[in-house]
Amino acid sequence: MVGSAIVKQLKQEGFTNILTKVKKELNLINQDQVHNFLKVEKPDHVIIAAAKVGGIYANNNYPAEFIYQNLMIEANLIHGAYLAGVKNLLFLGSSCIYPKESVQPIKEEYLLSGILEPTNEPYAISKIAGIKLCESYNRQYGTNYRSIMPTNLYGPKDNFDVNNGHVIPALIRKFHDAKVNNIASVEVWGSGMQLRDFLYVEDMAKASTFIMNFDIKTFNEVTSPMLSHINIGSGREATIKETSFLIKEVVGYHGNVIFNADMPDGTHRKLLDIKKIEGLGWKPNTGFKDGLKKTYSWFLENY
Ligand code: GDP
Repeated sequence: MVGSAIVKQLKQEGFTNILTKVKKELNLINQDQVHNFLKVEKPDHVIIAAAKVGGIYANNNYPAEFIYQNLMIEANLIHGAYLAGVKNLLFLGSSCIYPKESVQPIKEEYLLSGILEPTNEPYAISKIAGIKLCESYNRQYGTNYRSIMPTNLYGPKDNFDVNNGHVIPALIRKFHDAKVNNIASVEVWGSGMQLRDFLYVEDMAKASTFIMNFDIKTFNEVTSPMLSHINIGSGREATIKETSFLIKEVVGYHGNVIFNADMPDGTHRKLLDIKKIEGLGWKPNTGFKDGLKKTYSWFLENY
């Protein structure tokens, strides 16, 4: 989802020599394959959007896959980029790197100040490791490896699996299937009171190239060697209940919504503080309902 949106954005900005690989062509978990690929291609810039990702259920049930695959992807690409002499790299993380009980909105400097949310701790640890890999290579080898931490994303090409997807694609699928099959109610996990900061993926793609293109002098002025990651969020939050009713409306489902409190809520809130990137000149511009409508249109055309 994120990789495709970034490629689209790069093309819009006039980049032409964009190299992408699917898993069958290049397995990012395989060190030899990744190192050889980077040595041969010697890209000017590497963007790491690839990751093993999933919603609360997947993170909670496949923790070994989440920590192992993400650590390997990051270590292979970051070390491989360094060995191939690649100067510039952009690493994408996640807002789950922050402590569960963070003061809100969450500032970049709250990283490593408390205990993580248990449902996605293995994934979060791998993403923290990615930031620290970038910073360590910058400090020791003078590279320009930057990290950005997006909030909960949604949009075209998301994973619409009802069990393993994130909440927005899973609920689009559930409400759509219930509408088509005349099912009386749809189940939403948790209390409904949890809050999330949802950003449309095309806004995220714009933020990614914005940070990638930023001149190094200004970038270094707003970051420091051991606190270099930048938050990317929507600047607003919605409860899961509000979100469910908005998706219900966008899909046009008229049945009931049932909240299943036996399913996990995860962290209560994780609103990112986006003052840093806003100060540099980026801001989100897709309204929530608008983004949901675009996502549902994509779903209708592709499923
Ligand atoms: P999280 O931000 O890492 O917790 O990722 P998710 O997108 O998986 O979940 C966000 C919130 O939505 C959690 O509080 C879930 O309990 C809630 N939620 C409600 N219904 C669903 C659903 O059908 N699928 C998912 N993944 N989450 C749901």
